[in-house]
Amino acid sequence: MSTREIPVLFSAEEIEERVKGLAREISLKLPPDLMVVSLLKGSFVFTADLIRQLYHIGLHPQVDFMTLSSYGATTESSKKITINRDLTEEVAGRHILILDDILESGRTLQYARNLITQRNAASSRIVVMLEKPGKREVAISADFVGFTIPDKFVVGYGLDYANYYRELPYVGVLDIH
Ligand code: 5GP
Ligand code: MG
Repeated sequence: MSTREIPVLFSAEEIEERVKGLAREISLKLPPDLMVVSLLKGSFVFTADLIRQLYHIGLHPQVDFMTLSSYGATTESSKKITINRDLTEEVAGRHILILDDILESGRTLQYARNLITQRNAASSRIVVMLEKPGKREVAISADFVGFTIPDKFVVGYGLDYANYYRELPYVGVLDIH
């Protein structure tokens, strides 16, 4: 797969500035004793950048990972979410910051937040790098949003198409037709 033809939506520099801004917003609004719950695989790059910006701002969150998967077409969010790999940490009593790459239908994040609520977290907040408005199928919103994007299929900065393009340092638009 060639990356030459993938136009830039957000450059690496724009992303870095925005992630710094998100870290500032989070540090102002949330308690310092956070546990980051990173939803794999798509949010691994965003997580790596955001937790280091949190460090620079003086926060030292616990960080754990969960892999959720949805069955369906490669480029469409499907209806059924399952846990592929669960957290290893207890979330009971903790202030949880759920990180995901992109909020589209909202099903993934709704599932994750319900799970964390059922496990008796003290609080949960959601941060997403990207959000597509007008695509929500369930009533959920993110507390912190990196960028709002048009209804296009994007790749890079951890986001994939069939597990390709995750390494792109920028967010680009993939023309899938
Ligand atoms: P939701 O459950 O909100 O519909 O979908 C969230 C998941 O769908 C994301 O974590 C991501 O895996 C996938 N997704 C939604 N839109 C896009 C997109 O434009 N590009 C890529 N690569 N994945 C997307
Ligand atoms: Mg994903």
